[in-house]
Amino acid sequence: MHEASIAISLLETVTDICQKDGYGSIETVRLKVGRAAGILPDALLFAFDIAKASTIASQAELIIEHIPIGGFCSDCGSEFNSEERYTYSCPICSSTAIKITRGDELQIIDMEVN
Ligand SMILES: [Zn+2]
Repeated sequence: MHEASIAISLLETVTDICQKDGYGSIETVRLKVGRAAGILPDALLFAFDIAKASTIASQAELIIEHIPIGGFCSDCGSEFNSEERYTYSCPICSSTAIKITRGDELQIIDMEVN
């Protein structure tokens, strides 16, 4: 499962940062996930909960912030946002001459540590 390996590398990243800064436990991790990142948030939360058990993040809560897809249409010149996971055409003029400019983020926003 794709989300399992993401959860594991996410945990490695946050525990590394936490230990480097001399903290003993992680309370929350906030993650930015774009709609087009190809990640199922529920699967990621599930994988995180399993993978965190034996780490200093065992009590940590993963909070996912969703970033909608943003795009630009070169036919009608519109900039648009989409809540869909996949966007293939302009929602205004239906042209497929679009460029996706946002929504594939997978990034840690911040975390709370103790
Ligand atoms: Zn358009």
